[in-house]
Order: sequence, then structure tokens, then C-alpha cells
Amino acid sequence: MTAGTPRPLVRIRGLRKSFGTHRVLDGVDLDVPEGSVTVLLGPSGSGKSTLLRCVNHLERPDAGFVEVAGEIIGYRHHAGRLHELPSRAVTRQRAQVGMVFQQFNLFPHLTVLENLVEAPVAVRGLAKAAAAERGRDLLARVGLAGRESAYPRELSGGQQQRVAIARALAMEPRLLLFDEPTSALDPELVGEVLAVIRDLARTGMTMIVVTHEIGFAREVADTAVFLDAGRIVESGAPADVLDRPSNERAQAFLSAVL
Ligand code: ADP
Ligand code: MG
Repeated sequence: MTAGTPRPLVRIRGLRKSFGTHRVLDGVDLDVPEGSVTVLLGPSGSGKSTLLRCVNHLERPDAGFVEVAGEIIGYRHHAGRLHELPSRAVTRQRAQVGMVFQQFNLFPHLTVLENLVEAPVAVRGLAKAAAAERGRDLLARVGLAGRESAYPRELSGGQQQRVAIARALAMEPRLLLFDEPTSALDPELVGEVLAVIRDLARTGMTMIVVTHEIGFAREVADTAVFLDAGRIVESGAPADVLDRPSNERAQAFLSAVL
């Protein structure tokens, strides 16, 4: 590695994953530099969610690896081989990686603030009062100051997704993964969620975002990656990938969503 080139926060190498005989990821290599935003595009079924889930070890790769902050997710090197990590170590690794899903997945029986306090207390051993204070700050940051005592069902989809983002931030992750964070929202609520993600990009949060919001990708992404049938077929600056794709499948997909 050249001196002065920092090691990327995320390094994915030779990642393969099959379900039965269906090869869903077919040798994915990807670097995500610290502080950068990577937008992941591709048709339905191309393996986008599976790729994100491998980064969080919600799926176990068949081959290859994901490294975050210099640690292989789910495994460690010993005597030239990879050995599976105990679940406690995986839990510790996962705490560094926040994930926001299409369906907000808030705990319905907990208030907004309780949703934010739960994991920092249970997983990181933070004192409840400190977690609550941080939770209030994060709610203000996503524009939801004053809604601490509301239950998720009392909020709009856009507000729930902003709570989900605040909940992910409450763990102080080094990396945030978004899996189609606005796809379940009514069109008029998409903007408020994208605004929060845009704001996070400005503060230097490292993110991988699966989205079909091309305008957002063009504006916020440092790198755009196009996945087709489990392979990265285009990768580069958003202007190149989105406006001048050389791959035929990428051309067809992008002309359909633009
Ligand atoms: P995308 O997010 O790009 O739409 P996914 O990663 O969700 O794609 O899925 C890629 C393919 O893998 C799809 O054909 C899907 O049906 C299949 N798949 C995903 N998860 C599973 C699973 N747990 N069991 C079997 N097949 C799966
Ligand atoms: Mg998906």
C-alpha cells in the first residue's frame, strides 16, 4: 500500500454467497474509504441486500471476506486459516455497524426514546441516564425534538425512519448501512429522510446506501456501484456510472428509473 493512502474502512474481497444452487453474490470486491458515501444500485434480486447483510454478518459468506476497520467480520485469522468468532465477538463487531432497513423495524411497544436507549444500555453497558441524554440529542438532530414519549405507531413513516436512523446513531457506529431507506415511504415523506442522510454525509459518516433515488445518489455519493446478478459491473464517480454507464444492464436499468 502506498504511504499516505489510508486503509479503507471497509474492504470486501472475493465475496460469494449462494442460497441452495442460486449464486447470489459472485465474487464481490469493494473498498469504502472512511468518511465516504457509496451508493449501491441494481435491479431487484441482484444481491444488494445480501451484500449489506454480509457486511453485518447477518449472512455468512461462502467465500471471501468483509473487513471493517481492519477486522474480518465474523472470523479471525489464525495459523493461516479463518476461524469463526464466538457470538459475543460478532455482537461487538456489529455494534460498529449501524443498519437502517426499508421497514423501520422499531420496537412497537417502546417509546421513541426507549427505542434509542435500549441497545446502548444492553449492548454497550451505557448508564440509562447517559443513554437518554444522548437519545434526546439524536432526536433533535433528526428533527424530532419533543417526540420522545410518542410510540412508533403515532408517527408518520418518515418520522419513524428518522427515529430508526437516530437509533442506529445511538450506538456510535463507524459505518452506517441503509437498505432502501425510502422505498416504503409515501413520496411526500422521502425528502425528509434523504435530508437526514445528506446531513450525515456532511458530517463525514461512512455510509453504504442502497437506493433507487438517482438524484440523491448523484448529489451525495462519492462512489456509485452497480450490481447485476451478484457482480459489480460498474463502479466509479456517480456522474460516470449514472450518466455514462458502459455496461448494457446498467444502461437499461438506469434509463428505466431516470
Ligand atoms: P436485492 O436486495 O438486490 O433485491 P437480495 O440480496 O435480497 O437482492 O436477493 C438476491 C437473491 O437472493 C434473490 O433472488 C432472493 O430471492 C435470494 N435470497 C435472498 N435471501 C435469501 C434467503 N434467505 N434464502 C433464499 N434465497 C434468498
Ligand atoms: Mg433488497
